[in-house]
Amino acid sequence: MKKIAIIGSGAYGSYAVSLINELHPDWDIHIYDVGDEEIKDQDTMGLYSEVVGSPYEALTKGRYFGYGGATAKWGGQILTFSDNDFKNPNRYQKEIIELNKKYKQNIFKKVGIENNYPEQQIGDGMFTKTGVWLDYFSRNLFKKFNVASCKNVTLHPHHRVSRVFFDEKHITGFEAIHDFKTVKIDGYDYYFLATGAFETSRILMMSGIQDKTCVEFSDHIVKKVYRIKNGTRVGPVDFRFLIKKFSFITTRIIGEKDETSFFLYPVFNAEFPFFKNLKQFLFGKKSFAIVGAILKDIPSCMAFAWQFFIRHKLYVYKNEWYLCLHLENQKGNGKMMLSQMLDKFGQPGLAIDFHIDKETEERFNQLSDDFENHLKKWGVNYERLQEKVHTEKFEDEYHPFGIYSDFISVDEYFNRFDNMIVIHSGVLPRAGGINSTAAAFPLLEEFIRNRMV
Ligand SMILES: Cc1cc2nc3c(=O)[nH]c(=O)nc-3n(C[C@H](O)[C@H](O)[C@H](O)COP(=O)(O)OP(=O)(O)OC[C@H]3O[C@@H](n4cnc5c(N)ncnc54)[C@H](O)[C@@H]3O)c2cc1C
Repeated sequence: MKKIAIIGSGAYGSYAVSLINELHPDWDIHIYDVGDEEIKDQDTMGLYSEVVGSPYEALTKGRYFGYGGATAKWGGQILTFSDNDFKNPNRYQKEIIELNKKYKQNIFKKVGIENNYPEQQIGDGMFTKTGVWLDYFSRNLFKKFNVASCKNVTLHPHHRVSRVFFDEKHITGFEAIHDFKTVKIDGYDYYFLATGAFETSRILMMSGIQDKTCVEFSDHIVKKVYRIKNGTRVGPVDFRFLIKKFSFITTRIIGEKDETSFFLYPVFNAEFPFFKNLKQFLFGKKSFAIVGAILKDIPSCMAFAWQFFIRHKLYVYKNEWYLCLHLENQKGNGKMMLSQMLDKFGQPGLAIDFHIDKETEERFNQLSDDFENHLKKWGVNYERLQEKVHTEKFEDEYHPFGIYSDFISVDEYFNRFDNMIVIHSGVLPRAGGINSTAAAFPLLEEFIRNRMV
């Protein structure tokens, strides 16, 4: 029997609990979370962050606290890496890809989806990947895995973990703020530090494990590059979302240039009033005004419903939509530091600098030109848009990477501590061309199945 502390009950915390519970139902699992059943954003939770330079809203708009964390609000698109994703992966990446291949079906089974769509090469080193979203009504992983009702799980809400204590590679306990008092907690065989990419880094900085003055990170940058005007097919690829129950099945084109991944992904119905209001209702603050606006737009609503429920396809307003180019920003363009400002818990907040350098902007424009040649070749009716490349994000765009990933091998990553695993999307050196959360689940699979002795 082992005693496990899971710090953070978001995507990774919930996945870890579910798997440990499945394999070792007698182990004693304790979950420490800053929140509770109610999901709160950064400001409501009382955490602090500031942006230095370009606008980057991943912390204020992309972080959620409480049981389930950001999965209470995420799209829930589950994607994993294959051999196609990186042309020259280093050893650590190669081993992560192998684990992705090994555990992909376990992940799909656990979250209850099927994805047997093959990837297809479409020329020029580009390929397609199909993503399947979780059912909209069952995307909070804490709830999906019934974490609260596991017999061997004890919940410790309202514990803001502030630092971990260590003796060389051994974690001896951690400090949490509970009821405005600081408490020291110890006595666990294993610790899972899973408080989200940014907050985990803050905790590691406060603990003296990661550099306080600067931790590098990166994320995708994105812009709407083309307005497509003649249906959803672009050359060999049909981008239209298919619908299975309350889940979308989506297709993207992925490629890589100069060791930097990019992907092309559609935005449908951005100007469709019904869809705008529905999005606001699903992802933003709910209000009677929004419900009223949705009801007022009944004719489009009927067309949407017909396509959705009868044809199982997404309705595309005026048959026009945007094709967006997403690119991994260069490492070095993202840095996080401890802020001078304290949050509600008396802890230093985070200062974030995420910008785009000239070289990245040029690469972005070059890729846009290159893909435009494909559009011409395929006879697509499109308009090139002239928006500036920016660091502001769309709703489903927060995939920080390259934060805690400077490892030679997966072994080195697992052995960084002898009784703790640090897990968030930033343990991946690259996000490639995917929404990358599920690509780090295989590290948990391998660790829990084969490394916890
Ligand atoms: C709108 C949106 C859509 C997205 N869509 C997708 C998608 O389709 N596919 C995809 O792969 N990714 C998507 N993402 C990204 C995905 O949500 C995150 O990568 C994922 O949730 C991160 O999991 P996590 O466990 O690291 O952190 P979180 O899910 O954020 O969980 C962190 C947990 O730790 C707790 N916590 C935080 N700080 C502390 C502390 N100091 N002490 C104790 N507890 C603490 C929090 O309360 C929370 O429960 C999306 C993100 C957003 C915002």
